[in-house]
Amino acid sequence: MKPFPRAEISRYALQSNLAQMRLIAPNSKIMAVVKANGYGHGLLNVAESVGKYSGGADGFGLARLEEALQLREGGVKGKLLLLEGFFRQSDLPLLVTHNIDTAVHHESQLQMLETITLDKPVTVWMKIDTGMHRLGFSLEQFDAIYQRLLACPQVAKPIHLMTHFACADEPGNKMTQMQMNAFDKLISGLEGDRTLANSAGTLFWPTSQADWIRPGIALYGVSPVVGDKGVNHKLIPAMELVSNLIAVREHKAGDSVGYGALWTAKQDTRLGVVAMGYGDGYPRNAPEGTPVWINGRRVPIVGRVSMDMLTVDLGADAQDRVGDNVQLWGKTLAVEEVAEHIGTIAYELVTKLTPRVVVELL
Ligand code: PLP
Repeated sequence: MKPFPRAEISRYALQSNLAQMRLIAPNSKIMAVVKANGYGHGLLNVAESVGKYSGGADGFGLARLEEALQLREGGVKGKLLLLEGFFRQSDLPLLVTHNIDTAVHHESQLQMLETITLDKPVTVWMKIDTGMHRLGFSLEQFDAIYQRLLACPQVAKPIHLMTHFACADEPGNKMTQMQMNAFDKLISGLEGDRTLANSAGTLFWPTSQADWIRPGIALYGVSPVVGDKGVNHKLIPAMELVSNLIAVREHKAGDSVGYGALWTAKQDTRLGVVAMGYGDGYPRNAPEGTPVWINGRRVPIVGRVSMDMLTVDLGADAQDRVGDNVQLWGKTLAVEEVAEHIGTIAYELVTKLTPRVVVELL
């Protein structure tokens, strides 16, 4: 019997989604964003699946140095970029040794670069704040900081340029075009590669694709837009979160179930107990009616999700048995649909799985 709960990761889906992004952005290189353990799919699983074939990803985007080092230890070659940059001056020699690019978004990072001697210059992506107002140099700071980067011997030339969108997942929002205009105006005539587009930028704002696209969620087969699904963009869900029924119980009308006795059956029914709880990363706040997929149909969660289990109303005539497979999300039950029930986004569901869930690359 296979271990459960487990997240089955489809290599085919990851590769197909990467190929789809290439079709959508044929003139851009692809920096596959694999931070946060490959969005919960397993950092090396994803890097190996999308990196090691011809036409695969041209580089990988990460949030932390530790993630980049894990990729190098796993034998991943090619470009790696720290999207949030480095945090300590002592990180800089590691960037040189392991050939890792870094974003520079804050003056403190520039000071660290200006006050160290390195064996080789570091490849830098200057991050410009065109409207997200989270990380990056302001439009007013740009010239002065760019000149300091140019003058800094620790910084490889040319300097690459990046920005990040705040609202690209809202196809009608004017903010994205304004961000694109501000970026283009600022960097016009400069050398270096440019990158603006995350998944939503790539899908909905083709003129933002530039030298590199940086898709994350789309690679995993998920749409970045609430109310939309990856399948609408020919993407295939890469994760199937599965577990088993560990009990099937006769349940009488008027009986409640679980902590807080939150739900009471209106009629006699059968309840299924699924080995999946908030200790596995399934949200405790999933409301009554959130679907799971059992034996070819959606059945609703009832009662409160507990640490190791959740309960579902199988119905009075249910034939389901202990040991039957349960899909929490995957190809038949889109993670986007589950996220909407829970009032969150698919990004959060897939990245929040805990180490108790066995991640298996198929
Ligand atoms: N680029 C940067 C700088 C990011 O922070 C992220 C993710 O948050 C991405 C790209 C990928 O975004 P998405 O998963 O929406 O494609």
